Amino acid sequence: METTMTFEYAPAPESRAIVTIKPKYGHFIGGKFVPGGKHFPTINPATEEVLSQIALGGKADVDAAVKAARKAYANTWSKMSGKERGKYLYRIARIMQERAREFAVLETLDNGKPIRESRDTDIPLAAAHFFYHAGWADKLEYAGLGTSPKPLGVAGQIIPWNFPLLMLAWKVAPALAAGNTVVLKPAESTPLTALLFAEVCQQAELPAGVVNIVTGDGSTGALIVNHPGIDKIAFTGSTEVGKIIARAVAPTNKSVTLELGGKAANIVFDDAPIDETVEGIVNGIFFNQGHVCCAGSRLLLQENVAEEVLHKLKNRMEKIRVGDPMDKNTDVGAINSKEQLAKIIELAAVGDSEGAERWSPACTLPNKGFWFAPTIFTGVTQAHRIAREEIFGPVLSVLTFRTPAEAIEKANNTPFGLSAGIWSEKGSRTLWASQQLRAGVIWANTFNKFDPTSPFGGYKESGWGREGGRHGLSGYLKGVSHE
Ligand code: ADP
Repeated sequence: METTMTFEYAPAPESRAIVTIKPKYGHFIGGKFVPGGKHFPTINPATEEVLSQIALGGKADVDAAVKAARKAYANTWSKMSGKERGKYLYRIARIMQERAREFAVLETLDNGKPIRESRDTDIPLAAAHFFYHAGWADKLEYAGLGTSPKPLGVAGQIIPWNFPLLMLAWKVAPALAAGNTVVLKPAESTPLTALLFAEVCQQAELPAGVVNIVTGDGSTGALIVNHPGIDKIAFTGSTEVGKIIARAVAPTNKSVTLELGGKAANIVFDDAPIDETVEGIVNGIFFNQGHVCCAGSRLLLQENVAEEVLHKLKNRMEKIRVGDPMDKNTDVGAINSKEQLAKIIELAAVGDSEGAERWSPACTLPNKGFWFAPTIFTGVTQAHRIAREEIFGPVLSVLTFRTPAEAIEKANNTPFGLSAGIWSEKGSRTLWASQQLRAGVIWANTFNKFDPTSPFGGYKESGWGREGGRHGLSGYLKGVSHE
């Protein structure tokens, strides 16, 4: 017999006193903050409070940033020994750790993710990426990528809003370790931690121009993509924009890595340890409000355990706490923007109209800000849009299968191929399934585990190239294969 105990949690808010947010920011170019022209607001999606005014980068700003990056590349960074470059990266990593609380609070305010996640996942992992790549800076010739690997030059890097500082770290750390300089554009709705990172670069006395940060929207991103002074484009974002970028760079000499969308299958075989699996399902789709390109958004349950898993999953979901991201007990925070909320609402409505059954636990959502209750759809078939399209929100589509072969066929029946999960007690089944799955990252009896040593990237429409590990370094070096 199951007993459910419900605890009342008193509010446990993290203090925001540690961060100082300026009313207005410019760009970070050539080691200095320079004023912008036009500005736009960045808000806290949990309260709709305007946090600051952010510069909208135009042609002159991107030109200045590329010029500063080229100068730093030619005169300083490409000439410096790997050992020296490594020292700067270690210094940056240590400062990020020292200022971790500041970064975590700022990330949560600007993004809406729970403080528990920014504190325990985003910021420590971002620092870990700098530590890991600092170690490679003087050992590139031992990375198995040729005896005398050379940097590409200036990298233009465009990142999304779901893991703002972590995506910055994924991009900046390997680029710098390999001897490149960068022009980075954070997403328009989450620029604040990138601007704090600019301060860290100053504090670490990183040579001027090695890292340049230009804020702005898609038009600023397009200026970076199309700039003739850039040697490499690294992009993480939607498949739609990824395709635009791929077309734009195709006739040029720019090298490119793209980390795009996903619709991962999380496959539960009937021999899976059910309680652990339920935790993994929750972590797979509700971590970071489901704003995760590798989220386990399609749950594939073997038919004979489907009822039991769903029953336990719903019980578990009743205990998820949705609300103030700054509260240390919150599990699911705010949706990052009004636009993203509208997309989630629209696709969920399509789920209803196509005949899937919607379920959410009872939860009271705040009046202000952007919120969506954790949701599961059962009775989903392959033909449903919610089984095919990335929702990028806290919405799980549940499908069933009878045989392992059917599971694989359904899992692979997608234009994406970023990640997948396998839940089974049998090692042989896990190995067999992982060989059949067309996905860049496959987790077994776990989900959403990240490590800087492990390459991450997709098949098919999920992207080109890998980030992290030795494979990721190859994306920032000349003449080495990207796969
Ligand atoms: P999402 O749909 O999840 O917001 P996007 O792919 O639109 O993701 O955004 C990811 C990043 O790409 C953001 O920094 C955004 O400003 C930038 N971006 C959007 N459109 C373009 C474009 N046409 N060219 C280059 N960058 C773009």
